[in-house]
Amino acid sequence: MQLVKPGKLLINNEWCEAESGKRFDVFNPATEQKLTDVAEGDAKDIDRAVKSARQAFETGPWKNMTARERGRILNRVALLLQKHKTEFAELETLNNGKPISETLNADLPLAIETFEYYAGLADKIHGDTIPVNGNFFNYTLREPTGVVGQIIPWNFPLLMAAWKLGPALATGCTVVLKPAEQTPLTALKLGEILIEAGLPPGVVNIIPGFGPTAGAAIASHNDVDKVAFTGSTEVGKLVMRLAAESNLKRVSLELGGKAPNIVFADSDLSAAVDGAMRGIFFNQGEVCCAGSRLFLEEKIHDEFISMLKTRVEKMIVGNPLDPKTQMGAQVNKEQFNKILNYIEKGKQEGAKVVTGGAPAHKQGYFMKPTILQGVNNQMTVAREEIFGPVVCAIPFKNQDDLRKQANDTIYGLSAGIWTRDIGKAHRLAKEIKAGTVWINCFNCFDAASPFGGFKQSGFGRELGKYALELYTQVKSVWVSLD
Ligand code: ADP
Repeated sequence: MQLVKPGKLLINNEWCEAESGKRFDVFNPATEQKLTDVAEGDAKDIDRAVKSARQAFETGPWKNMTARERGRILNRVALLLQKHKTEFAELETLNNGKPISETLNADLPLAIETFEYYAGLADKIHGDTIPVNGNFFNYTLREPTGVVGQIIPWNFPLLMAAWKLGPALATGCTVVLKPAEQTPLTALKLGEILIEAGLPPGVVNIIPGFGPTAGAAIASHNDVDKVAFTGSTEVGKLVMRLAAESNLKRVSLELGGKAPNIVFADSDLSAAVDGAMRGIFFNQGEVCCAGSRLFLEEKIHDEFISMLKTRVEKMIVGNPLDPKTQMGAQVNKEQFNKILNYIEKGKQEGAKVVTGGAPAHKQGYFMKPTILQGVNNQMTVAREEIFGPVVCAIPFKNQDDLRKQANDTIYGLSAGIWTRDIGKAHRLAKEIKAGTVWINCFNCFDAASPFGGFKQSGFGRELGKYALELYTQVKSVWVSLD
């Protein structure tokens, strides 16, 4: 299979080496072997990319293009992704370690739908006419924010690129995109498709590179009008600081999570077991909205754990390219070790490993899916994001007890509620401080439905029409009728 063609930076629709001439290695986490290497962009390359994006934003053809034509280009991107779906899925699986069943059935369809959705939305972005005092005609324009820097993580490399590029391009912004250093390959391959779809030079520039160099250069660049970041809360704070200290660029952040997945005794337990598994083992638990805190009503705690254990121990963990595989490899050694350390810490603080808790294979960063029980909400494993296939079961007595614990976290990205009592479900959905609440389901996504955080999970909403707010500014125009 062909890996990404040039492995270079994309600036002004041309593939080029970094000015420093440096390249860095990209690995397959399932084999620990090098896949390829790509050009390593740093501040100088970011500057070149920003200049190209600025030029494209201020002059034609992008600036003069109708919104409908921008929509057509986005549609072509979706069609080309569809055409090359298998190649993209395999490349993502090779580079990230996630199972091919997931790249084919989740990452790719969702990425394609995101481009389709924003293709359709491009010509429906408009202002209002506003009745004002006096003899005036007042209207608003919704204008593109300008040159946008987008910094994305390694857990859904192509999908995160789609979430960022879809709305930015629909609104008429131009972009400097930095994929994560662990997983730059599908974003680069997407660059080939963007050119083929007819995107003019400079509209999207793709610069693989490291966070403290390329990423920080985007966040602190004085000619970037907005930075959109997805990653850890720690780095999110840094990005915001750099944005404030430079040109006060607009910021949106999608950060970490520690989602409560709440199972009441009156729920369909077998569906809830499915949901608990999807909540934490999807994408090896490398999901910011993972259902990592599994709150179980005391009455069903033991029964639920035993049902879950049976299912978890049947999971197929292994070769990510095998269609039967249910859980692949963690993205790299650092993440793998971090997860093992958290499990150790959990044990030291009194949690018990029900199943898993160790590497699954000798080679590759494969973890056994892990259940910890006897966890309380104050333990490190319940407070910090593990970002791995480790679910922490926490018993609760009643709704009051539950509510306090569920919201007792610095994060607020998502939550799950399992109950047959519809009133209870909706009441709780209102009380949970999180950007997404799933009732009797978990990890559901659609390009039309917004996603984003409360509290330290960030701010700004991606997807849906809400994401247009991230990439537009409103201008109020007054016209005297005298
Ligand atoms: P993780 O800890 O899950 O790897 P990070 O928040 O470190 O997540 O990374 C998410 C993205 O942020 C990546 O593209 C990474 O290169 C980038 N990044 C990391 N450090 C910085 C930084 N200091 N400034 C800007 N971007 C950064």
